[in-house]
Amino acid sequence: MESVKPELSPVPIWRCRNAECKVWVREELASSASPECPMCKGGMVRGIKHLPKLIKKHKSPRKSKDEASAW
Ligand SMILES: [Zn+2]
Repeated sequence: MESVKPELSPVPIWRCRNAECKVWVREELASSASPECPMCKGGMVRGIKHLPKLIKKHKSPRKSKDEASAW
């Protein structure tokens, strides 16, 4: 039997400065460049969290170079 472990990748996140507050959000989901904690309204600091990779349902082979010139 093969146990399938989700592949973890380091993801940039924001986490609450308050050590007792466990709130964190993905940087890409943060509402602003310097978000505040939705729970305690405190400041948030950047960090890294290891999360399972998001699996996209459809494959879209894309060249990374295209992103810069898309607009
Ligand atoms: Zn907080």
